[in-house]
Amino acid sequence: AYVINAPCIGTKNGACASVCPMDCIHPKPGTPDFDRVDQLFINPDECIDCYACVEECPVDAITYHGQQPAEWDEYPEKNRNYFLT
Ligand code: SF4
Repeated sequence: AYVINAPCIGTKNGACASVCPMDCIHPKPGTPDFDRVDQLFINPDECIDCYACVEECPVDAITYHGQQPAEWDEYPEKNRNYFLT
């Protein structure tokens, strides 16, 4: 699965969510949760690794799980945790 990392914080562009064929990037712009969170998240159980969101992100926030730079090591768990709440 792909993971959304730190550059999304304060950006929340949302273009990724629009192109995801699995509709697995949340929260969606325009929903109550969108204003509550600091970034968007990918549901690792639904992502099919299609790469569409990676190309769409204007701040290059999305990496493949396990291939992120060391300073983003907590983001795979942060993404997963969003869907556990
Ligand atoms: Fe959605 Fe594809 Fe990105 Fe996975 S890689 S989150 S399926 S757009």
